[in-house]
Amino acid sequence: MGLLSTSLAQIFPLRSFSYLRIGSKSPKSPSGKELFSSALLRRKFRELNGEFGRVCPVCARDVYFSEWEGDVDHYFPKSAHPALTFHPYNLLPTCADCNGPKNKFFKDPIDRKDVGAGELRTVFLPYLRAASQEVELDVVESPDVELDLKIAINPGPGGDRWTRKRIENMDRLYNLSSRWSGILEGTYEDIETEGRQKRAEGVTPEEWPVVLREILSAAAKSTGGRSDFIKGVYCSWLLERSDAKLVEIFPYQTLSLPPEEA
Ligand SMILES: [Zn+2]
Repeated sequence: MGLLSTSLAQIFPLRSFSYLRIGSKSPKSPSGKELFSSALLRRKFRELNGEFGRVCPVCARDVYFSEWEGDVDHYFPKSAHPALTFHPYNLLPTCADCNGPKNKFFKDPIDRKDVGAGELRTVFLPYLRAASQEVELDVVESPDVELDLKIAINPGPGGDRWTRKRIENMDRLYNLSSRWSGILEGTYEDIETEGRQKRAEGVTPEEWPVVLREILSAAAKSTGGRSDFIKGVYCSWLLERSDAKLVEIFPYQTLSLPPEEA
């Protein structure tokens, strides 16, 4: 791995660490602890990124990065790439879930089978190549089970021939498609709850398709890149369906029942 670490270190040119310095008592010779405090990095990440400093840059869930909240991941793990242990471009603020044992943890962004084959083309380098510019999210229906929906991550128009591979790698690290798909059920229940409220207020079966579209439009617009952006992706996808399909997905009849019986 030595050669690989060398090439990564060359690609990640060392930059000034000044933004990582605490108002130091000894500014001329800050200790390593002061330079590389992960608590400080999280707080600075929030301050420098405004609204986006309150969102996990990987999965987009709400995280209030601070001295106490949020994780800092060694994107290229220390064990495999020790030369990048303290490199600022290798320190990636994420939520605890993204960096947890079920997801990224100690996984190497570089798939071992790609080593020696231009492997840096196969990963989204967080500070140098933004996935958001190459990726599009779609809702897909399971071919086997009707109305069983999942989030699919697909190459967007800004990609190149390696984008698909980068997406596969990203999903291998963070399980984003399955984690995002899990949000769909809760979103469905949110919309259904709003529908029940509307029916209790007197909305008729004839009015239901129009009212349902209003609910979906509001949800689709209320996103803005925060943790509910999957809700926005789902609602936008729903809005492209016909009225008949929407009413099939959200039947008026079930809206009179309490949630546990619907
Ligand atoms: Zn996350």
